[in-house]
Amino acid sequence: MRANVVSDIVPAKYPKGEGQAISKQAQGLLAPPEHMTLTDTHCHLDLEKFDADRAEVLRRAEQAGLTRILIPGLTLTSSRSAVKLAESHPMLSAAIGVHPNDSLAWDGQTISALRELSLNQKVVAIGEIGLDYYWDSTPHDHQQKVLKEQLALAAELQLPVVIHFREKGLASGGDCASDLLKILEEWGTGLRREKSPLAERPGVLHSFSGTLEMARAAIRLGFYMGVTGPVTFENGQRLQDLVAALPLDRILIETDAPFLAPHPHRGKRNEPAYVRLIADKIALVRSYTTEQVAAATSENARSLFAWE
Ligand SMILES: [Zn+2]
Repeated sequence: MRANVVSDIVPAKYPKGEGQAISKQAQGLLAPPEHMTLTDTHCHLDLEKFDADRAEVLRRAEQAGLTRILIPGLTLTSSRSAVKLAESHPMLSAAIGVHPNDSLAWDGQTISALRELSLNQKVVAIGEIGLDYYWDSTPHDHQQKVLKEQLALAAELQLPVVIHFREKGLASGGDCASDLLKILEEWGTGLRREKSPLAERPGVLHSFSGTLEMARAAIRLGFYMGVTGPVTFENGQRLQDLVAALPLDRILIETDAPFLAPHPHRGKRNEPAYVRLIADKIALVRSYTTEQVAAATSENARSLFAWE
């Protein structure tokens, strides 16, 4: 319908030929072909940066061809607001969990509060959880304890996990990566031992920026790799090489909005409609069409989060 509206309006305004060119461009910018289905598997739409125009942002996402957006939690409070927001719109789902940088607030009550919140139909994952050695605001052993408790909860609830990890400094294959892989391997072994169906869809490494070696190890465990805006940056060669080497059936597209806006919006507020720019870049790097990348990554998201 949308594509028809554009081609109905635009050619009438312009002479033949020129009108067609503009129509094509207009379709690309405003309304993708009917069959283009994009998914944003990581968007902090509940944050106050969207308070002034959240409905508009969602409308633009729909116009850009998005059919699903996953809102991850950062704290118990933000997990609750992610679920509440997800209830307000059919295209929204929520993940619930406590981010490593917020893990000092973890106490004896948190796990049961998350368990209770997980009963909501909109909850499709546990996240974002993980390890962050960059900010170093929380002792590493405490981060690991909180991560392990939430992985156990995910196994109990049969929900995949959304994993955040960040190294100290600029290194991409340091202690954080090896500690995380060790924990995920142990968890995966447990899932397989218990013949849990979750072993086939354990989760996603969100905004993956590690080494190819780490990506391969995580993929062997069944994980998907989240690709975000920095892959579009002019200095994004390392990430582009990484994306070129990953199997397309393991890639998810995430905005991490309002953060990490892709080129040409770098430094400004990000929003879900911009997943299209990441899909365009992956298509370019891999010599696919944007439609193929959109379809494959949406299908990946559908199987990971068990969306119909
Ligand atoms: Zn995030």
